[in-house]
Parts: sequence; C-alpha cells; structure tokens
Amino acid sequence: MSRFWSVAVDAPIDEALTYLAPPSFEGLLRRGQAVDVPLGKRIARGVLLGPKTEAPSFSLKEITKIIDEYPLLPEPFLKWLEWVAQYYFHPVGSVTSLAFPPLKKMIAPRASKRAAVIKASGPSQAPVLTAEQRKTVDGVLAHKGFSTHLVFGVTGSGKTEIYMHLLQEILAKGQRGLVLVPEISLTPQLIQRFAARFGDQIAVLHSQLTPRERTNQWWEIVDGKKNILIGARSALFCPIDNLGMVIVDEEHEPSFKQEEKLKYHGRDCAVMLGKFFQCPVVLGSATPSLESWKNSQEGRYHLHRLFERVEGRSLPNIEIIDMRELKQQRSLSEVKSDLPSWLSPQLFSAMKENLDRKKQVALFLNRRGMAPMVLCPDCGYIHECPNCDISLTLHGSSHLVCHYCDYHENFKELCPDCKQGVMTPLGLGTEMLEQEIAKLFPAARIARADRDEITSRADLEDLIERMETGEIDILIGTQMIAKGLDFTQLNLVGLVLADVGFNIPDFRSPERSFQLVTQVSGRAGRHVKIDEEPGRVIVQTYNPSHPSLVFSQQNDFVGFAQQELVHREALLYPPFGRLISLRLQGTDLEKVQATSQQIAEMATQLKEKFLSYEKIEVLGPAQAPLSRVRGKFRYHLLLKGPEMKDLNKLCRHLLGNEKLFPSGVRIFADVDPLNLL
Ligand code: ADP
Ligand code: ZN
Repeated sequence: MSRFWSVAVDAPIDEALTYLAPPSFEGLLRRGQAVDVPLGKRIARGVLLGPKTEAPSFSLKEITKIIDEYPLLPEPFLKWLEWVAQYYFHPVGSVTSLAFPPLKKMIAPRASKRAAVIKASGPSQAPVLTAEQRKTVDGVLAHKGFSTHLVFGVTGSGKTEIYMHLLQEILAKGQRGLVLVPEISLTPQLIQRFAARFGDQIAVLHSQLTPRERTNQWWEIVDGKKNILIGARSALFCPIDNLGMVIVDEEHEPSFKQEEKLKYHGRDCAVMLGKFFQCPVVLGSATPSLESWKNSQEGRYHLHRLFERVEGRSLPNIEIIDMRELKQQRSLSEVKSDLPSWLSPQLFSAMKENLDRKKQVALFLNRRGMAPMVLCPDCGYIHECPNCDISLTLHGSSHLVCHYCDYHENFKELCPDCKQGVMTPLGLGTEMLEQEIAKLFPAARIARADRDEITSRADLEDLIERMETGEIDILIGTQMIAKGLDFTQLNLVGLVLADVGFNIPDFRSPERSFQLVTQVSGRAGRHVKIDEEPGRVIVQTYNPSHPSLVFSQQNDFVGFAQQELVHREALLYPPFGRLISLRLQGTDLEKVQATSQQIAEMATQLKEKFLSYEKIEVLGPAQAPLSRVRGKFRYHLLLKGPEMKDLNKLCRHLLGNEKLFPSGVRIFADVDPLNLL
C-alpha cells in the first residue's frame, strides 16, 4: 500500500492535499475515511480520497489521526461529493466537510425539553391509487438502475401519495429513500403524512433544527435506524448507504438552488446522486422547470402525467381582472368608489360571499411592508438605501428598511433632498393590505404571513394550525403562502397584483410568474367535493394579456412551455445553452470594473487560442442590475455555450488566474445560475 494519501481537507483550498501515512496506520486507511491532518499551525478535518503513487518532491506531513467515530463514506456518495466540488468550483474539502454532522455523537440521548422532531401519530392506511397514480407508480418501478422520472401532475393530483407508494416498494426491497422538498413546504403537515404512513422509519433534516437535533437525525440515518430521510436541499449531504430512490418534490422551485458559498442546485445534485447510486430519481411538479420539461421531451427523463385532481375534485376557476380598465372607469365615474384603488369590486364581492359562507380567503401579494418606496412629489427624490442600489421600504408608519441589507432608519416626512416636499409612500405592501382589509371587513379574523410576521418555523406551524382550526378568515401573505399549503376551507384566492414579478430583468421571469400564478391558484378549493362549486381564483393585473397569466388561466403548461422555449432557443438561453455567471464584488468601483474587463479579455483570448471554446459567448462585463449591495459594487459577466464541459474548462482557466487580479475584488463563479440580478 502506498504511503502517500490524497486528502480532502476542510479548508478553502481547491484541490486535495497529499499526506504521509505513518507506519502505524498501515492497512488501516481506506478511501472515504475521516482523518485529522496538520494544516499550517492547526489540525484540520479531512477525508481520504485515495492512495497516490507519486509523491511531490517537497517534504510531507503525516496524517495525525483516524476518526473512527464515523463509518466510511459510501463510495457512490463520495464520488458524488467529488463531482459536486468539480462541477460547482468549490474546494473539495469544504464539500466533503458537509457530509458530517455539526456535533459529536451523543451516546445516551438525554430527554430533551424541546418537542420531538417528529410527533408520534397513528398509522394511516394507504388509499387505493387512482388509475393515473397507479400508472405512474408502475411506470417508475418498471425501470431498474438509474433513470430520471418527471411526474407532471396538476396541484392536488396526488403526487405525494405516489411518492409514498414508491418508497414503500423501495423499503420492501431493503433499500432506503431520500425525499427533498423546499424548506418552506417542510411543514409538520407534510412530515406527519409520511410519519403516519411509515411510523418510526422517518428522519428529518431542515434548517431550523438545533445542532444537537441535526446530529441526532444524521446518526439515525447513518446507523441505519431510519430508512427514509425527508429534508430540505442540504439533506443531500447526509450519507445514506444503500440508497434506492431519490425524490424531489416541487422540482421547479428556485429555492433548491443555494445562493451562497457552495452554489449548488439541489435538484440537479439529486439527479447526479441517483446516477452514482444507480437508482431511480423522481422529480415532481405541477409546473415543471423548463429544464426538466425539455429533458422529458427529449427522452432523457421519463414523463408521467396526471391530468386530474383525485376524487374528481375540480381545478379552480381563474378570473383575470383588468385593473387598467377599472382605473379608467373609476376616474370617469362621478361617484367615488369607496374601495381602495388596488381592490376590484369583483374581488371584494367574492370575498364577502365567501366569508358569508364561512369559507376562508387568501390574498397574495409578493411585497412586504407598507409601501415599497417613499417619494417626494415636489422634486421626485426617492429614498434609497445608502449601501444598496434599491429603494427603502416603509414599514409601519415610521420605519424605512432595506430588504437587501436590513439597513433601518426612521421615516421623516420632510424630503431630505429639496427640504420642502412631504415624502409620500408609493405602492402597496402586505402590511398596508392588512390595514385596509381590516377596515373593509371589521368582523373578519385576519392573519398576515410574510417575513416580518413569520420569523421562525414555530410561527409558521402556529399559523398553519390556526388556518386548519378555522381561527383565521382572511390570510394575507407573500410567497410564503404560495407553495404547498393545503387548507380544507380555503376556497378563494386573490392575487392582488400579479404584475409584481413581470418586469424583473431576468430571462426566467415569465417562467417564475407562470409558476407563481399556478401554484397560488392551486391553494384554492383543494377539498371541494365533486358536486360542490370549485375553488375560485381572482387575479388582478395591469397586463391581462401577459402569457404567464393567460396560459395559467387555461391551465396550459404545455402551451406556455412551447412558447417560452421558442424565446429561449433564439437566444441560446437554458435549457438550450448553458451558463456560468462570474460575479465580481468590491468596495472600489474602478477596481471591480477593471478586473471584470480583464477577465473578459482573458476569456476572449482563450477563445481564440482553443478551438473547443469556439462556440462559447462571453457576455459583458456589465454592471449587475443590482449594482450595489451592502456597500459592494457588483459587476458580472456571463459565459454561455452549448456544452457545460467546455464552459467549466474555460471558467477553471479564468479562475486559475485569480492571483493576477487585484486584492479587494472577489470573484464568484455561479454554475447554472438562477439569479442574475
Ligand atoms: P399533490 O401532492 O399532487 O398536490 P396530494 O398527494 O397532496 O397531491 O393529494 C391531494 C389530496 O388527495 C390529499 O389530501 C391526499 O390525501 C388525497 N389523495 C391522494 N391520493 C388519493 C387517492 N388515491 N384516493 C383518495 N385520496 C387521495
Ligand atoms: Zn441596503
């Protein structure tokens, strides 16, 4: 056995380092073993990647210790970790360090004062599958080894039930399963559904667990005490031996992408994990991402469609209200409307009707606070954040807040610029909505769900419970309430201003809007019986013919996708081309600008030199749409090309020259970026 070992060391070093095995470790070292190694003056944690035949010429340090507390990382899992590091340009040791729990194993767990991570509950009987569900389950199980399945089913078509059936089959084969859901959908409702079916086979990982809980859940899986792990994207990094299936619910959700540090996409990483474990991967959505849709159209993913809600429940009716017309009518008519300008008479009367029938209403607006900006009507001055390129949002009557860096200041009425005008709130946020709704419906019990009101998982759980027990009549919220929630009595959903997302300068904004409208609508009337009136959705907008709205009204994802894909193809945007975005940030604008110019030139030179880069386009450099955040100036450039392999190589080339760039400018590579702002 070689005496030289390659070790992924938990440090910001791109590549693995080589260490010497002391003679006493002979025969004890294996790939996937956790070890301690000296690094500079400290001892660092590392994972053995394998023996090396060649030793570097300089003198090597010895591995200090074998950490036998941890079992070897499973080989497919370790291969996957190496792939993640390579694909997303992240130091391999930082990636492998994610595969371990934050604390040491607790030998005899003490009774904790906190509630158990999963509440006990009685067993639930699996319902008889509908024909569409049966076909999907059989279709997935017909494949052995690695295959990816897109389960495209309307909201309420019973996708979760499909996942549970599949998992049952996997457990019966003695294998284990991983279920990823967006953090926000990881509600006690959902966990309960799984726990009721699978009893104590379930472990859960999400961001609100304490380090102790996280460590305990990790060991339950690694020790083989639990066989199904449900979690947010980070659950991918829990090593599950004998993994037999990976499921990603709401696969289109942008929150599967981590935007800081390791900028990985949970869905894409899940597919790769299945590939390394040679097991099926199931992606589910009512509004698939165009990436997955295209993959299913071209046969790389198997498509399973569910057209109907279970038990013949109908999809809600979506009405689109033209707010331009309403505005015109109101300005012409003699009688002043006593409704606020943002509220159409249609939505108002639907709310009244619904409340009279003792049903619940949800109003959705993707903007928190009272008003998204304050403006001086005399000189046009808009109060912006001193650190960011964005207007401050008014909260309450006296507070201005930056939604990017959390800068706060008191709201003063006198314009700080012309010192004459009175600063006036402009636009609408959820807080304002709540106030005005309270005036219009004084008897209604109103709750607000946004990041100001709901600051913890406990808050969200409490809110869900109050919705379920009927303690709330009107729920007002941001995208926090758009996803996954399932309330029996919720029959009317109002989208107060659908236009909020339309003008975001991002090629994915039509897709996001389509998803949002469909998902929000999917909250309405999920439990109406076949002979009852379906749920109702009222969408208020100034762009009634916007394709995102029209296709979503007709429940026509396929039509939307076809049209949108034509635009994407013309510009070679994903899912046709691939992207890597390079973001540069620093406090010195000139340095940031000069460095981004330098990188762009370097990229152009490399393109001229190597034929394989011929088809890559270098876009920019340009100021990012959000040109300053937290006092840092931001520039970016985009590498766009048909093959990720070549983009990855070019990017590695560019980042390899990092030492040539001035200090004070940080460069971040974002592979398959979702956020281009
Ligand atoms: P989705 O995940 O597609 O939104 P769910 O799996 O949550 O759908 O199913 C919607 C509702 O229908 C849930 O209340 C679920 O318990 C119920 N359901 C699902 N499948 C069946 C079935 N085959 N028979 C009866 N009820 C079902
Ligand atoms: Zn700010």
